[in-house]
Amino acid sequence: MAGLLCQVCGGPADRNENGVLWRIGDAPDAPGSWPQGLETAHPPVCQPCADLSVRACPHLRQRFVALRVRSWTQAGVHGALYRPGCPDPVLTDATGIPFDHPAVQWIIASQLIVRLDRFTFTHIATGTPDG
Ligand SMILES: [Zn+2]
Repeated sequence: MAGLLCQVCGGPADRNENGVLWRIGDAPDAPGSWPQGLETAHPPVCQPCADLSVRACPHLRQRFVALRVRSWTQAGVHGALYRPGCPDPVLTDATGIPFDHPAVQWIIASQLIVRLDRFTFTHIATGTPDG
């Protein structure tokens, strides 16, 4: 994610003058809510893998939107959250935690979460904004 590599093939994500190509799916816990609160643990995609990512990823299979993202911020991590315990820390949840939250020191991170700050909607085939 931090290197903006394609989530399918691991090559460079597609980038043009409008930004980096991302596909974002419906939030499973809030269908129909996208695109808002655009924080994602899903990396961008390259053009050849854009369609494959929708077929391969259950998260994207139902509904998705394609975005060209011009700026983003590393916002936190998703992983296994623990709390202090004796004799060992106790696993409490699988969740996302922002970097500025005190609990971030108790998470074993598995995915980086980025906040998509500036973006436009796009058609995958042409890469042009569709308003
Ligand atoms: Zn790819």
